[in-house]
Amino acid sequence: MPRTLHWFRNDLRTRDNPALYAAAQRAREQNSELIACFLMSPEQWRSHDMADIKLDFMLRNLKALQVELSGLNIPLFILDASRFDEAPAKLLSFMRQHQCGALTFNEEFGVNERRRDKAVKATLNEEGLEALKFRDQSILPAGSIRTGQGTPYAVFTPYKRAWFSQCPEHIELWPAPEKQPLPTHSNRDDIPESVTGFDKVSSDAYAAGEDAALQKLDEFLEQKVDRYHERRDFPAIDGVSQLSPYLALGVLSGRQCFHAAQQHRHASQNAGEGVDTWINELIWRDFYIHILYDFPRISMTKAFKEETENLQWRHSEKDFLAWCEGKTGIPIVDAAMRQLNQTGWMHNRLRMICAMFLSKNLLLDWRLGERYFMRKLIDGHLAANNGGWQWSASTGVDAAPYFRMFNPVAQSERFDPNGDFIRHYVPELSELSTKHIHQPPTDARSRLGYPAPIVDLKASRERALQAFRELKDSASPAHSA
Ligand code: FAD
Repeated sequence: MPRTLHWFRNDLRTRDNPALYAAAQRAREQNSELIACFLMSPEQWRSHDMADIKLDFMLRNLKALQVELSGLNIPLFILDASRFDEAPAKLLSFMRQHQCGALTFNEEFGVNERRRDKAVKATLNEEGLEALKFRDQSILPAGSIRTGQGTPYAVFTPYKRAWFSQCPEHIELWPAPEKQPLPTHSNRDDIPESVTGFDKVSSDAYAAGEDAALQKLDEFLEQKVDRYHERRDFPAIDGVSQLSPYLALGVLSGRQCFHAAQQHRHASQNAGEGVDTWINELIWRDFYIHILYDFPRISMTKAFKEETENLQWRHSEKDFLAWCEGKTGIPIVDAAMRQLNQTGWMHNRLRMICAMFLSKNLLLDWRLGERYFMRKLIDGHLAANNGGWQWSASTGVDAAPYFRMFNPVAQSERFDPNGDFIRHYVPELSELSTKHIHQPPTDARSRLGYPAPIVDLKASRERALQAFRELKDSASPAHSA
């Protein structure tokens, strides 16, 4: 009987993988073999701004996946399709060569990914081969949460209410495929150590593989989640899960996180606000995936609120560079940007502070920041990154109102009260007292070689308010009349 081929993309795991599970079922029913593949698309990944560190983490996870799969007798083949438009021909030729009758995969929702998948399906179907897609990315399937009018939600709180009303009390996970009979094609391809076009940046701070991800999830739930609500906003405290790199590559699923959180809630007497607050964040992730599913244009650098396309952003290469390099003269922003540049990860509170500072105080186009983040983040995730940036820039779905702007110094005093985080990433300021570290005096700056602020916070706040007000005025019917 013809073989079944599972195509791994950002679902690099064997457990709770709906398409892989279905592939295994099909192979069993047909008494045929299950094999798997992954397509290397470096040119496309580069054009999608994948970070070097994320690529490194992906290769390491692919290696771990290959080991996991070989224990199940499922060989993993690596194909080259440098751009997505090469995928249909590459898959077709591979399937012919390996006598495969069907391809399974989990859907992705970016515009280019959808185009690729449509083309793959058309090419295979023309040749009488099946292409079977499954919905995987979010806890509840994208597109399944609808208002009474059948439209997608564009505000988080009612979305969340509907999400809970639709969520089963016990969410079911897909088991890993059973061990397959010994494959006739026991050969499998080597996973490369690096890929042309990407610099080698080590992601070793994160152990690779789904076992490591599940262990990190367990440890977080055992040790940290019960205090998550109190500690999650303080970047100097190790109070969040740091599971985002695994979730972004699908080494771990949102469902696995939610399932484990539910179990924790049932098993632990202390569980309450901490685990509920964490689940709330998982639902934000679902929300942004749903938005990408329903409004794919946001993956093509379009603002969710179309009227904000007319906002008069400033142009300043110098200011943008200072922001990228962590040299703005605002210590909390600089510490955060240096955390990103050095580790590939940034704390959520700081992502909001840096994104607001760029889009409001500097009044630079949020797309510049979105792109820079994507190019640096180990957890770069189209839906969450775009959602976070558009929230901060007040251009997005259920975004921060434009007049509710963070003051980065006030945020710093509140969320890094002793200045510990700043001292770690901006060591030139480490000798400053807690009183001065958030906003160093002029003489200390020049003595310590730390720059003066690149903007006046008060004046730049006014400038941003004015730019948004002008936008509002120009959009009002009175103005256009
Ligand atoms: P935890 O606090 O432990 O939360 C658990 C999981 O929930 C996270 O791993 C993540 O998958 C999800 N999550 C948490 N907060 C959010 C949120 N606000 N929106 C969507 N999902 C969330 N997250 C990414 O995964 N990739 C990105 O590229 C990304 N870019 C962002 C850019 C900006 C400007 C902002 C404001 C936020 C961004 N986020 C992004 C969301 C959030 O900052 C990270 O998910 C979080 O910091 C990851 O750390 P954690 O795993 O310890 O999260």
